[in-house]
Amino acid sequence: MKKKLSLNKELFIKIVVILFIILMCVLVFIKIRTDNNPTKIQEEQRALLFNTIDKNANVNVTKYTVYGTHFNIEGTLDIVEISGIKISNVDLIVKNLNGDEISINSDFNYSDNTISFSTFSEINRGIDLESLEINDYYLLLKVTYSNSDINYYSFVNGSEYGNITYYTLTKNNSNHKIDISFNQYHDIPYLSIHVEQANGLPEDVYDIAIDPGHGGLDAGATSGDYTEAGLVLDCALTLKSKLEDLGLKVLLSRDETSPANENTAYTMYDENGRVNLLNKSHAKLLISLHLNSEIYNKDEGGVEVYAPNDCNLDFASLLAKNIVEKANTYYSELSSFKELDRRLCS
Ligand SMILES: [Zn+2]
Repeated sequence: MKKKLSLNKELFIKIVVILFIILMCVLVFIKIRTDNNPTKIQEEQRALLFNTIDKNANVNVTKYTVYGTHFNIEGTLDIVEISGIKISNVDLIVKNLNGDEISINSDFNYSDNTISFSTFSEINRGIDLESLEINDYYLLLKVTYSNSDINYYSFVNGSEYGNITYYTLTKNNSNHKIDISFNQYHDIPYLSIHVEQANGLPEDVYDIAIDPGHGGLDAGATSGDYTEAGLVLDCALTLKSKLEDLGLKVLLSRDETSPANENTAYTMYDENGRVNLLNKSHAKLLISLHLNSEIYNKDEGGVEVYAPNDCNLDFASLLAKNIVEKANTYYSELSSFKELDRRLCS
């Protein structure tokens, strides 16, 4: 009887030891799995990124928009004055967790311990949304001091603007959907850009909008039986079909099916007016086509490209250069109503 008991005891101990070893193996396995878990690695990288941020102050964002293909932002940052030290540079930083970083130099003013910054000086100067790869990006303000110290600050929304969704221009039948939003990481507010593959463009989103000038009761410039409204509509229809052949989604502000009444030209800002229609298209580019008349000197002519005066002129210059080269024509010499871009004509 005594022997049987001790045998059972021996067996029991063996089972406990084996179970203990199995349990340890399972725990080690789980630990290895968790350490290599992509979500955990990302979380650690995110923690590292937020560790670099100065928690004493946040950037108060007062305005942000996407204009064309670029995201622009402005705001203020209150800092503690350090005597004798000036601000050398203010940059807008776009970072992802792979360590990639884009830096955009910002205009800034510094007075009364407040930095005011803005990337709005040129409407297509800020963050180029077309060039962002699929990923999550974090926006930071980098302030470089005259003693070479560098501080990073996070953004908090002090404006009345909401989240933004942007679709990139169609390339090879493919678009990215970009969401720009304010979020919170523990106690730190931040601004992020999330880029993902889009499942095609939503019905109301276009790549490019073309506005054939005038129309309806407004014929624009005329010469004999020709009207500017009619000629630019022909050009617009041709341009639309060529752009569609390249896979782009194009909106016309009017076409030959528009009723020939004054609505087309004069009710621009109404709910269904021309300007609203174009704004609602979410188009990244807008081209308005016009043909000017010249009654005094019939030899005058040539290409003119107008662009907003607070915009980088590279795209407009490229457009004008290509029209001149491909259509074998020349730049207009006229300078009324415009500031001639001397880079083209010199
Ligand atoms: Zn016109």
